[in-house]
Amino acid sequence: MKYDILIVGSGLAGSTAARILAEHGKKILVIEKRHHVAGNCYDSKDNNGITVHRFGPHIFHTNHKSIWDFVNSFGAFNHFQHKVLSYAEGRLIPFPINRDTLCDVFGIALPVTEVSSFLKKQIEKSTFNVPAQNFRDAVVSQVGEHLYDLFFKNYTKKQWDREPELLSAEIAARIPIRENRDARYFTDQYQGIPISGYTAMIESMLNHENISLMLNTDYFDVKNDINVDKTIYTGKLDEYFNYCHGELEYRSVHFEFKTADTSFFQPVSVVNYPNDYDFTRITEFKHFTGENSDKTSLCYEYPSAKGTPCYVVLSRENIEKREKYKGMSDQLEKNGTHIFLGRLAEYKYYNMDQVIERVFNALK
Ligand code: UDP
Repeated sequence: MKYDILIVGSGLAGSTAARILAEHGKKILVIEKRHHVAGNCYDSKDNNGITVHRFGPHIFHTNHKSIWDFVNSFGAFNHFQHKVLSYAEGRLIPFPINRDTLCDVFGIALPVTEVSSFLKKQIEKSTFNVPAQNFRDAVVSQVGEHLYDLFFKNYTKKQWDREPELLSAEIAARIPIRENRDARYFTDQYQGIPISGYTAMIESMLNHENISLMLNTDYFDVKNDINVDKTIYTGKLDEYFNYCHGELEYRSVHFEFKTADTSFFQPVSVVNYPNDYDFTRITEFKHFTGENSDKTSLCYEYPSAKGTPCYVVLSRENIEKREKYKGMSDQLEKNGTHIFLGRLAEYKYYNMDQVIERVFNALK
């Protein structure tokens, strides 16, 4: 069988690309080194009959109707609105910071109209540089040192195993600071979780007569045996180029799954633990889907340097290295032989909808 395009990786980036190209009549071979599709969106039901996200909580959110319609065409989504609490000073506090967070932390009844001037006073008491060049200054310049110390400093150290001063301000932009009482983690117009799971959604994407899938196949073992005009690569950027500019860092997580013998363990799907314990957060999956069980399934996340890559590490050194590799991948893209897509291949901290948007644009 002659294929037009080889796609390396069956995560969200690879599977979206495969589907779009298959619908344009291209014959696609997707190769996947793991035993399952869906990359780190992979989910499956556990012994409690609850759908568990095997690589940490994935909540789909987007402001683009075209992206929402695209994912919904592979299986219906519910309308789950994600809320997070942060365990600090021995209690659960709304996070990201909003008006109610300030009332709780400072023990005051603050009208929404006075939040801005209240934060201004917090900021005036603090030291930082503007424009912010790193994660710490990006947060402190918005909320001041007290709130930074309580919610951000130690979580960030645990998550990335480095001082927040050494991380990009871009990471801080993921977390909004709100003056109103909106306690949701995201405010995108479309939010939800696929009712049958992400794995089923990806399987449905790949279920097309023009797509062939090979699991348990490492690209680097077979690349010389496959003859295609174009390769879409979604694996690690540095690995593709045989680490010629040195290794990029990818952060992993040790996911510890537990069952609690109670119908609910915590009031929301995710509780962050910035200051206490070695884990960063606990996810309780039942909240996502409303699945019924006498028990409840939990996941404790312990960030780690080793294991399946989950995150890119946005430090100055890694960003500089990324640019060197990008020069090489851009050249291959210009030649028309390759496209590099997704978190690992572009070394970007993409959300799921951003991955799909990138694929849409790359294949236009
Ligand atoms: N963060 C933090 N405190 C929190 C939550 C997040 O300091 O309670 C910081 C931390 O550096 C984290 C980053 O913000 O890595 C991005 O958080 P997000 O919730 O987007 O992480 P993800 O869900 O992608 O792991």
